[in-house]
Amino acid sequence: MLVSAKEMLNKARDGHYAVGQFNINNLEWTKSILQTAEELKAPVILGVSEGAGKYMCGFDTVVGMVNGMLKGLNITVPVALHLDHGTFEGAKACINAGFSSIMFDGSHYPIEENLKLTTALVNTCDILGISLEAEVGAIGGEEDGVVGMGECADPKECKMIADLGVTMLAAGIGNIHGKYPENWPGLRFDVLENIKATVGDMPLVLHGGTGIPEDMIKKAISLGVAKINVNTECQLSFSAATRKYIEEGKDLVGKGFDPRKVLAPGCEAIKATVREKMEIFGCIGKA
Ligand SMILES: [Zn+2]
Repeated sequence: MLVSAKEMLNKARDGHYAVGQFNINNLEWTKSILQTAEELKAPVILGVSEGAGKYMCGFDTVVGMVNGMLKGLNITVPVALHLDHGTFEGAKACINAGFSSIMFDGSHYPIEENLKLTTALVNTCDILGISLEAEVGAIGGEEDGVVGMGECADPKECKMIADLGVTMLAAGIGNIHGKYPENWPGLRFDVLENIKATVGDMPLVLHGGTGIPEDMIKKAISLGVAKINVNTECQLSFSAATRKYIEEGKDLVGKGFDPRKVLAPGCEAIKATVREKMEIFGCIGKA
């Protein structure tokens, strides 16, 4: 059964580790992440963007697939199904479809509007036992085509959103979605410390987890980050392994063209990436 992310994140915050959010795109992605989490006895959050939800034929299909897999693969670790960077409409649609966790990203609205819309979802999510992630200020990088250099959130605005009673808070600390540029100056730990001091117990979320050096990830966790989002890195390892299979001509040997064989190296690559991230996040054995 899907669970809210609240308990797993509070435990992570108290235990000084982070839970990974890994975004899914299809059946293979979901299966690979769930199998790795189960094998490593780690709690896990499956992230679904609105685009990926549409690609998978809608949120109902996603919920049906994930629930079916929890049963079919005998998954015993806590799993949350989470909307990533949701719009207000998308959040409502995922709540109706049976997601156990929602991110409403109101960061591009003026703070008053972000507060108003987040408030509306706090009440609904509370009643239904769904965890809610809110975002303050823009996180840099490519998010709907807008490129930035790692923007930072205002701790005062973070406090205003946190006080609404959301479960977890995403706030820019110089992190970027996608691949980091060579001249990226690194995470702003001074900003993270200020935010943490202002919001208190609230588990913090670090987006753009692909390519942040391990020591910076660990320092961010020590300063209150309890959830780290990984998306691009699984895409890179999946496509590299798939390309290798095709370039080596393995699809031309015997029944190598069988889609289950073509997709197998990519799945193994996703599993290796998820394992590597879970080792760094410290969440192995915490289920
Ligand atoms: Zn993000």
